[in-house]
Amino acid sequence: CGIVGYIGHREAYPIVIKGLKRLEYRGYDSAGVMLYDQENIKLCKTKGKVSDLEEKAKIDFTSNGTIGIGHTRWATHGVPNDVNSHPHVSNSGELVIIHNGIIENYAPLKEELIKRGYSFKSDTDTEVLVNLIEEVQKKENIKLGKAVQIALNQVIGAYAIAVFDKKNPDEIVAARLGSPLAIGVGEDEFFIASDASPFIEYTSNAIYLEDGEMANIRLHKPLKIRKIKDDSLVDPYIQELQM
Ligand code: GLU
Repeated sequence: CGIVGYIGHREAYPIVIKGLKRLEYRGYDSAGVMLYDQENIKLCKTKGKVSDLEEKAKIDFTSNGTIGIGHTRWATHGVPNDVNSHPHVSNSGELVIIHNGIIENYAPLKEELIKRGYSFKSDTDTEVLVNLIEEVQKKENIKLGKAVQIALNQVIGAYAIAVFDKKNPDEIVAARLGSPLAIGVGEDEFFIASDASPFIEYTSNAIYLEDGEMANIRLHKPLKIRKIKDDSLVDPYIQELQM
């Protein structure tokens, strides 16, 4: 399973697709992609291979965007099918998530969200997390990063996630606990991936998130990395990759 993300000035779609192919070795049963073209969220997901996704996306994607996230899924909660594939979108249609890992306490969280009026399309633990983030964001009236942090502190499990918020589209929030996540730092562009192979051809500067860390990845702003538990800032350690 794998995660790829891009935010910058290039067309995101080819970077994300090529990146997902580089992560195929990790194993998966489904694949999906979200692109944002400064107006609309475009989603395409399918059971099967990244090449199947490409076939499907040819029909669905008429124009591309410079922000994108992509995912290969290894199903843990819910059978491998198109609906259970990632990305998952929150009830408002504004938050989009990709996730590798398991949210162990998804059942009580889901029950609580259903009581508050949320509905679910998929059988995944991941769709619970994206709606929990939405509920926190609405209740507290806060930005995405803070909402992700509060939500993750209510979660038991393992994750590498990337979250996008249409209300504030110059940003991707990423976090990890138990699953790997690397950030490629370019000139006015950032890459996110399970390992550096999807972005090594674009930048040799990589930050590997440590367990329990999250990153606010924003265009034209310094990268902020903090501990999910206590909100303390971490100095980003940029590694020079060997090309
Ligand atoms: N637990 C999630 C699911 O079943 C993510 C699986 C993965 O790591 O790809 O959808």
